[in-house]
Amino acid sequence: MKKRQTIIYIMSNQRSGSTLIENVLSKSLQIVSVGEAYLLGGHIHKTGPGSAWDWNCSCGESLLECDFWNKIYRNLNISNPQEIANTRIINPKRKKGNNKDKQKSNNSKAVSLMNQIYTAVFETTECDVLVDSSKEAFHGTSLYQNSPFNFKFIYLRRDLRAVSISKQKWWKRYGREHISLVRFLLSNYRHRLKCWLMLRKVNKKDVFYLNYEDFFKNPQHTLNDMSSFFGFDAYEMPEFMELNNDHTIAGTLNRFKKTKIEYDNRWLSIAKKRPLFNVLGYMLNKIG
Ligand SMILES: [Zn+2]
Repeated sequence: MKKRQTIIYIMSNQRSGSTLIENVLSKSLQIVSVGEAYLLGGHIHKTGPGSAWDWNCSCGESLLECDFWNKIYRNLNISNPQEIANTRIINPKRKKGNNKDKQKSNNSKAVSLMNQIYTAVFETTECDVLVDSSKEAFHGTSLYQNSPFNFKFIYLRRDLRAVSISKQKWWKRYGREHISLVRFLLSNYRHRLKCWLMLRKVNKKDVFYLNYEDFFKNPQHTLNDMSSFFGFDAYEMPEFMELNNDHTIAGTLNRFKKTKIEYDNRWLSIAKKRPLFNVLGYMLNKIG
């Protein structure tokens, strides 16, 4: 009997290293990464997050032109990729009245479409493991329920202070209003609680818990643990994060330049200069 294909869904906050983990996993010959499939519809229609790279595929082509994605559309029997309207699954609780039912119906269409896309990627690439680094807790757990695949998660967490400092930096770079680090910290902690709530719907044996900081203590060791957890062959930890014939959706802007994989601790000195933020962040990390 053919082995059931595996989905590795990375659930995390933004600025937590999901692109790095997705990129490291994509170096296995058995694994294909699609990046943040949640944003595929947005990238096709050039709307939502992605304007910094003009919503292109990581290969540099638009989602209408990219060879890889065109093979996927053909496999789905879609003549015009713009028929793919929506790949987002949103919690109906965020909607009011009739819109709740509308959202539920949109969600079930999106779940079915996502499963068809996963199938098409497996058939097109002949890989038996697919990484989806969408990060979204509700999207991921909706796809997990009744999945035809061997659906598993990496729940990736990074020090809340590091995430807050990184978000504030990118916020500024995009010219957005100033938000204090403490506010970022509290909002990142809320995000962590949301993931925790969503993960209660998931069987614990299907979740690989990964701390970004622990990963760097011994990357090869973590990669070996992932290989036995997810059932792919072990391989040598790459030295660099780099795109290598990848066709991924979204991710950190840093992915376009080849970078040595090493822990960046510059946030520590920024945190130390802000005692309230630093202590509060330290405590929230400890709570979990
Ligand atoms: Zn491409």
